[in-house]
Amino acid sequence: MLAVDDIPCAMMVTDAQGHVLRINAELLQIVGGCESDWRGRSMEHLLPPASLLFAQCYIFPMLHHEQRVKELYLQLVGADGATVPVMLNATRRPAAPGSEASIVWAVFVALERSRFEAELIRARADAESLAARLAASSEQVERLNRELSERARRVELRNQELSELSLTDPLTGLKNRRALELSVHAWQPAAGQPCVGALLLVDVDHFKRVNDSCGHAEGDRVLVALAQRLRACARTTDLVVRLGGEEFVLWLPGADDRVAQYVAGRLHQGVRELHTPLGALSVSVGLTVWHGPAAGDLLSSLLRSADKALYEAKTGGRDRTVCAAPLPELAQS
Ligand code: GH3
Ligand code: MG
Ligand code: MG
Repeated sequence: MLAVDDIPCAMMVTDAQGHVLRINAELLQIVGGCESDWRGRSMEHLLPPASLLFAQCYIFPMLHHEQRVKELYLQLVGADGATVPVMLNATRRPAAPGSEASIVWAVFVALERSRFEAELIRARADAESLAARLAASSEQVERLNRELSERARRVELRNQELSELSLTDPLTGLKNRRALELSVHAWQPAAGQPCVGALLLVDVDHFKRVNDSCGHAEGDRVLVALAQRLRACARTTDLVVRLGGEEFVLWLPGADDRVAQYVAGRLHQGVRELHTPLGALSVSVGLTVWHGPAAGDLLSSLLRSADKALYEAKTGGRDRTVCAAPLPELAQS
């Protein structure tokens, strides 16, 4: 007959209610005491409260219905009072003639499993905190990226503003000479390609009198009003420039003599409608139309040619447009 102490695992036998009938040496090593101490005592003394609850609510009902339970994890109260994690299997032996129903319990210490479980829980907590930190830093990276692109956008806008300012006349808001140079240069077609364009050099007649009689501030107001009027007389594709002082340029890309003369006529009419404290304003215009393939410094040639025509307009009595003769170096062959 096999003695319970010969079985190489911790075990005990209880009655169907859990009172200890037999307990072997292996289990006594865990829970302490000797077999006679335990005999007849309820096994609830072996279980801490949570495990006891588990036993009452699950293990005993299961044993009653299924006759066995397997691989259940719970805790025992160890010899020193500390809890010991264990796995247990149990089998219920039904009552037989001459013997009551009993339960055989096999107990396996599960310290390693608990350690793994604890490690798993720690690792999971670490992973969660890492994930949280990762999410926080990627949010930060996104925020920084948004800030950077916002800054880049503002710098870009500022650069555009600055470049716009560098091409703008501060008094009238018209484009300046630099903008005219860029515009004519960009327009100038590749050598050999014919094209046409007109330049009107506009100079206010007797403007000095406005300044002298009405003051410089009034002179400035007249210049601003004149700039608006010139803008209104030009087409949207034309460039209106304050060259300096009371001199302006209208650059009409694609305009031939007929169009340029028409714009000049409209311009005289429009300017005459402007009034200063000294009376109606007038301008003199030197007009030059360029037909031909691309030439060297087109703008300088156009301005020279228009300036001669403007001089003629002034000496001819002012308030008029004089067309320049086509310049030899620009004339179409
Ligand atoms: P002309 O018909 O021969 O062109 O006579 P003018 O008086 O218009 O020509 P002049 O060159 O003798 O005088 C131009 C005046 O324009 C002199 C100058 O004080 C004035 N002027 C130049 N720039 C400005 C400016 O920004 N504001 C004001 N108020 N006057 C200016
Ligand atoms: Mg002048
Ligand atoms: Mg003048």
